[in-house]
Amino acid sequence: MTGLEMLQSVQYVTVGDRRLAVVEADDWEAMVEWLETLEDVEIAKEAFAALKAAGGDRERAGWLRWDDIKGGLNSAGTPSIPSPPTEMLLSLDAHAHLDPARTADELAGSGAVLAMTLSLEEAALVVGRCDPHIAWGVGCHPRKPRSQEAFDVQRLRELAQRTAVVGEIGLDTGSRVPLEVQLRTFRQALEVVADLPRLVSIHSYRATGLVIEELRRRPVAVPVLHWWTGSAGETREAVALGCYFSIHSAVARHSKFRTAVPPERVLVESDHGYTDPPAAIPCRIEWVEHLVAQQLELDVQDVRRLAWRNLATIVRQTGTLGLLPEPLAALLAQVSPDVDHRMPCAG
Ligand SMILES: [Zn+2]
Repeated sequence: MTGLEMLQSVQYVTVGDRRLAVVEADDWEAMVEWLETLEDVEIAKEAFAALKAAGGDRERAGWLRWDDIKGGLNSAGTPSIPSPPTEMLLSLDAHAHLDPARTADELAGSGAVLAMTLSLEEAALVVGRCDPHIAWGVGCHPRKPRSQEAFDVQRLRELAQRTAVVGEIGLDTGSRVPLEVQLRTFRQALEVVADLPRLVSIHSYRATGLVIEELRRRPVAVPVLHWWTGSAGETREAVALGCYFSIHSAVARHSKFRTAVPPERVLVESDHGYTDPPAAIPCRIEWVEHLVAQQLELDVQDVRRLAWRNLATIVRQTGTLGLLPEPLAALLAQVSPDVDHRMPCAG
């Protein structure tokens, strides 16, 4: 009997005021078995995809050695299935800066990265790229006088239509750029993302209260506070405004990330610089994951899964899956089964 036949065999009965569906116990068991088989097929597909991605290296793909686990077989002869190996998940950096001059090969070892830009000029160079695991953002940094002077809201809107990420934007009271200029840019950028939902990576150095105030005035989907140093009170308000937090190693020990931020709002970041080697990003992310794991009393591998799952939620909320490179979208589908990744890279 197929699953469909079993579903069609259901009988309805009315007991009191409730209508119940009844199936034969044997049919029910066959159905459960059928679903388990489907699940096994999915697990096998994922494992083979991981093996392919690891260039055939079983260890890197997270495959276990048969000799190591065969003793763990239960009496029914079925090996216990390990939870999805974290080795299958790349590191996920929610805020870094990559030099647009680098080739796809040079960026191949960086793991998955949300790559911020400092100016619209820089963004125009990268939004058309299709690096497998990199989402390039469109930004205008509050510390960059030339970027701020050249800011053009129409150009931001055009570029933002082609990418899932807007950043880095924000406010900085330590900047040489006059605050009124920064505020004008930031407000115009928030207007754009208020009707064009994006993951928005926000800088708030010595301006945490100001940033909160602007987000309260102009709520957007989905703000991600990068390298956040706000007070516990500001943090709670940011959470209420729907903010996520991309946590940098320099702030990861702050207790507010444990006491005021729900785990489902946590991402991790390196804020890696342009001249730093991209291949070092995964190490830096792993270090933050350890710090966050300690804070949240989680397994370090769970922090990685959490970050991926949280990104999947943001991508779903903003409807931007189709703007991501296909391999990155496929990883999101792997951690969050309700994400359908069969969409091409929009470039
Ligand atoms: Zn940055």
